[in-house]
Amino acid sequence: MIYKIKFGGTGKPKKVSGTSSSKLGGKKMIIVLKPNTKKEEIEHVIEEVKNKGFKPVPFEGDERTVIHALGAVRDDSPDSFRSIRCVEDVVRILKPYKLASKEHHSQKTIVRVGDVAIGNNDFVVIAGPDSVETEKQIIESAKIMKKNGIKIMRGSAFKPRTSPYDFQGFGIEGLKLLKKARDKTGILVETEVMDVRDVPIAAQYADILRVGARNMQNFDLLKELGKVDCPVILKRGMSATIKEFIMAAEYIMASGNKNVILCERGIRTFETAYRNTLDLEAVVVLREETHLPIIVDPSHATGNREWVIPLCKAAAAAGADGILVEVHPDPEKALCDGAQSLYPEQLTRLLKELKPICAAVGKKL
Ligand code: PEP
Ligand code: MN
Repeated sequence: MIYKIKFGGTGKPKKVSGTSSSKLGGKKMIIVLKPNTKKEEIEHVIEEVKNKGFKPVPFEGDERTVIHALGAVRDDSPDSFRSIRCVEDVVRILKPYKLASKEHHSQKTIVRVGDVAIGNNDFVVIAGPDSVETEKQIIESAKIMKKNGIKIMRGSAFKPRTSPYDFQGFGIEGLKLLKKARDKTGILVETEVMDVRDVPIAAQYADILRVGARNMQNFDLLKELGKVDCPVILKRGMSATIKEFIMAAEYIMASGNKNVILCERGIRTFETAYRNTLDLEAVVVLREETHLPIIVDPSHATGNREWVIPLCKAAAAAGADGILVEVHPDPEKALCDGAQSLYPEQLTRLLKELKPICAAVGKKL
């Protein structure tokens, strides 16, 4: 039903102190009153809205009044207003995402991989080189990670490169080397998957699959990832809104895989001094909107290893559940992203400096 509200004057809402509503919608009901409802009855509904814990924002028109009720709307909330005599209808504004939404699932999701839990009180560091390069390089990387107490190593075998002439990754051979490093050291491994056809094999070799920023809205890939029994790190597209980001997670979840970890990795802005702009506000807002674990990748946001450590600390302070960070045994020789890859000793320093920050926000590192 469409309600045509004819407003008198400016049609602006009546001033009610302290009202605000999420731009993502959802925490709101619209209570439509019958035409020519008397002032006292309107006041009564406003009182009821307040009594039930909502903030009322009335819009008085020439023909009818509607009242926006802002707050945590439960399934039975609309009915509690429908029984009031002057109320014609109550419309609940729903979020476009359901499975990923906190409205659907108020408890935080904890994604478990081996003996690691992502999304509880632990702060999880996933670290490793951009790519799997050689057997020696990936096994050495795994040893460095283990020495630093890292339980999950990253390493891409499939590479989404801007130029088709740049290093494209070693594909399935790379997956095999990653598995070799896993078998040799016991470290869990995380890797990117770009093509729908590679999802089953990548899920066989890796413990966590990653959707890169460039594929955040590759809906066929997301649907395929919904079918595997393997946690997925979903990176935010470089021009994706928070809503589009959560909707992408919704695709994976709606296809059957609930183990999704959101990863903020920097977005495109007018700023050119660094590779991307790390949007830490996303951590705070995603936390409010979803129950999914949230991690941050400062390596791809900065493009410069000197800026990675402070931003990892900022991510922890903002309440992230972990970080994804590039570390290479010899960054100067890296086939991809060497400039943003930490030296092994920088990883050790990062972990030391993260500890008090994690403790201050109630996280264990
Ligand atoms: C990566 O993690 O190596 C990567 C390519 O990141 P992004 O998709 O965020 O650019
Ligand atoms: Mn990279």
